[in-house]
Formats: sequence, structure tokens, C-alpha cells
Amino acid sequence: MEKIKKILVVEDSPIVSKIVRHVLKGNKSVEAYYAADFAQSRKLYEEHKNELFAALVDLNLPDAPDGEVVDYMLEQKVPTIVLTGSYDDQRREKLLSKGIVDYVIKEGRYSYDYAVNLVGRLSKNQDVKVLVVDDSDTSRNHICELLKRHLYQVVSANNGIEAIKVLLENPDIKLLITDYNMPVMDGFEMVQNIRHKYEKSDLVIIGLSGEGQSNLSAKFIKNGANDFLQKPFCQEEFYCRVTSNVESLELIAQIRDAAHRDHLTGLFNRRYFFEQGEQIYSHAQSAATPLSAVVLDIDYFKSINDTHGHEAGDLVLKQFAEILDEALGRFLVARTGGEEFFALLPGLDCDKASAYIDKVRSIVASTPMDIGESEPVYVSFSAGVTAHLSTTLDDQLNIADEHLYRAKDAGRNLVIGDDAGA
Ligand code: GH3
Ligand code: MG
Ligand code: MG
Repeated sequence: MEKIKKILVVEDSPIVSKIVRHVLKGNKSVEAYYAADFAQSRKLYEEHKNELFAALVDLNLPDAPDGEVVDYMLEQKVPTIVLTGSYDDQRREKLLSKGIVDYVIKEGRYSYDYAVNLVGRLSKNQDVKVLVVDDSDTSRNHICELLKRHLYQVVSANNGIEAIKVLLENPDIKLLITDYNMPVMDGFEMVQNIRHKYEKSDLVIIGLSGEGQSNLSAKFIKNGANDFLQKPFCQEEFYCRVTSNVESLELIAQIRDAAHRDHLTGLFNRRYFFEQGEQIYSHAQSAATPLSAVVLDIDYFKSINDTHGHEAGDLVLKQFAEILDEALGRFLVARTGGEEFFALLPGLDCDKASAYIDKVRSIVASTPMDIGESEPVYVSFSAGVTAHLSTTLDDQLNIADEHLYRAKDAGRNLVIGDDAGA
């Protein structure tokens, strides 16, 4: 779970403040303190400065008619989003040069959604590492500064060779912004080089082209960049490009993750289990380390459906999966059939794995499951555990499955390992 971010909202208009409250109600990861004037915002800031993540502040307040709150927040190094009643070029210029995160013109519901989404964006940006490559100190520092203002993690390099080195040292870099003209290795050569190893969907590259070199942007794209920006750019344009590229990476990651998971429980699915399982299995074989496989099946599950309905059955499956995830999430666990689950426990021999699964068994058996009726239901499971590394993962799972059926025959709510009854 993402930690809740606290923000300070400073706004004297009760109507605007009410809309912001309403928008924030729909956002579970952001909570706010509200101030209606400068004095109150200073007081709230002092009280909560250690937990404040960002501020959303009105430019004009009765006791601060000329953006004094904005200056105050920026002095305290609070990322500040400005709410302004109207737009004019001069004001925009002045605000941006002060170092605010962004400004939002108060016109309609959408602008408040935008402001609140921006807070969420800032929060996520803290986990996004960006590499800036430019030989010009001024240009590189400017871009780094803009990125830091939006709370990105920033690293930088002076040329292509150095950039590749930094990239190898920081495999978590998600976005690379690069100039074209650089000594040692130019932008194109670097992008071509990087694309041998990093897909567009794993590392976003934005190429920068200088004034009067508009053909560079096309070349950047042909050489493997995801996007380009023409210098000089305005701040809004810069953030827009960066944000939309980072968001598309996140969407791809979400889609990939969803493809690995079971829709109902959110546990991994059968396909992902075997994808990962094969690797774990061959590693255990070649390293001759123990590996236990578990096949686990809920007892008399059909009777839950028959007695309480399919929806109740689904609720039980979800709660059951939560317990498994909690107990086995650090290993590999998946929902592989209706009420059947597989787990792989590397490093555990059969005795240890069986003892562990038996603990999970007793937790499950004693946990009331809410099915939306006045009384909760209780379920148990049976499981087979084996540490026999056969010739394939499938074979090992078959042995675990045989143990499982012995557990069912022996009366259920039972874990059977390799030695039991042998
Ligand atoms: P046993 O102790 O022998 O395992 O008995 P059981 O009733 O658990 O096993 P059986 O295989 O007879 O029944 C499994 C039931 O699980 C049948 C099926 O309708 C139900 N089921 C499978 N997938 C889902 C699902 O996604 N949701 C719900 N609610 N039920 C499901
Ligand atoms: Mg069953
Ligand atoms: Mg079954």
C-alpha cells in the first residue's frame, strides 16, 4: 500500500475549497489540511511541516494579496502548485521562474482534478530515476533542476560514453533525456548503442534538438528515441513530454503485471507460475539446493457455492488468497485452478516446507471469512508437499499432487509431505 500523502491547501474562497475537498474525497492516497489565509497556513505549516508533501495555494489571499504564500512555501522548500484566478503571460513567467511545480487556473472541475492528479504524479516521481545527458553545463543543470522540481530522482552525464556507464551502474533508470551534439559520443550513436540492450518499453529516451536543427528530431526517432523536444522549450511543454512518456511506461508495466495475475484474487496465474517456476527449478537443480513444491486445494469448496452462492465463494477465494499472499508472497505462489494453488519454496527441504505450510493451514482454518452474511464461514485446505527434484517441474508437482490426494483421503485439513506414511 502506498503511503498517504499530506498536502496543505490554502484557499480563501469557500466554494473553491469545497470543490477541492470533494475532489480529494475521491483520492485515497492524498489527504489535506485546509487554511483560508496566510496566517493560518503558516500555523498549519509549522504544526505539520514534517509530514507535508506538497502545497496547493491560492495566489491571492486577504492577508497576502501578492503571492506571499507562494514565496513562503517555496522558501520552506515545499513543492508548490499555485491556484490562480486568471492567466496572464507576465504572471506565468514570474511564477515559473520562482520554481513552482505548476500553476492551475481555477476554471471548472477539471482544473482541480489536474491539480490533485499532479500531487499523485509527484508522489510517484520519487521512484522514477532519470538520466540527463548533455555536455553543456547550463542546459544540463536546467533540465536537472526542472526534473528535481517534480521530485524525480536525477542523475547526469556529459557525453554518450559516460551515459552508458551511468546506465549500467543504475539499472533502475526509466527515462533518459539526451542532447545530440556532444564530444566523445554523440546522441545518435549513444541511442543506437543503448537500444541493443534496452527496449523502448523499458527505457524511454527523449532526444533534444537545438534551434534550427529540426531534422534532428526525425533522426532521433529513427535511431530509437521514443520522443523528442525542440530547444528552446517552454516548461509546460517539457513537463508534458516527460510526464506522458513516464505514464506510458507505467501503463505498459501495469498491463504486463495484469497479464501475470489471476483476475479474481490478484495472485499470480498458472502461466506466470510456470514461467518463473522453470527458472527456480533449474537453478535448484544446477546449484543442488533444496526446493519444495506445494499443491494446495480448498476442502469442500463446492459446498460453499452450493450453500451461499457463487459470489460468496468468490469472496472466500479472495480472502483465502490474501492469507496465502501474506504467508507465501516472498516465495512463488499462484492460483492455478478454481480452488487450487501452487507454491514453490526455494531453500526449504520437505520437513521445513511442510511445517511452514501446516502453520498456514492452521491460520486458514481459524480465520473467519466474511461472505456478506450475518455469520462468517470457515474453510480449510489440504496440501501435498515434496522436495523431490525429479526430471521436470511438472513431475515434481505431480508428486505433490499425489500427496495432496492422500491428504484428501485421510480426511482433509491436512498437509502431507514426502515421508508421511512411507
Ligand atoms: P475437495 O475437498 O475434494 O477439494 O472438494 P471441493 O468441493 O473443494 O472440490 P470440487 O472440485 O468438487 O469443487 C470445486 C468447486 O470450486 C467447483 C467449482 O464450481 C468451484 N469454483 C471453481 N472456480 C471458482 C470460482 O472462481 N469462484 C467460485 N465461486 N467457485 C469456483
Ligand atoms: Mg477442493
Ligand atoms: Mg478441486
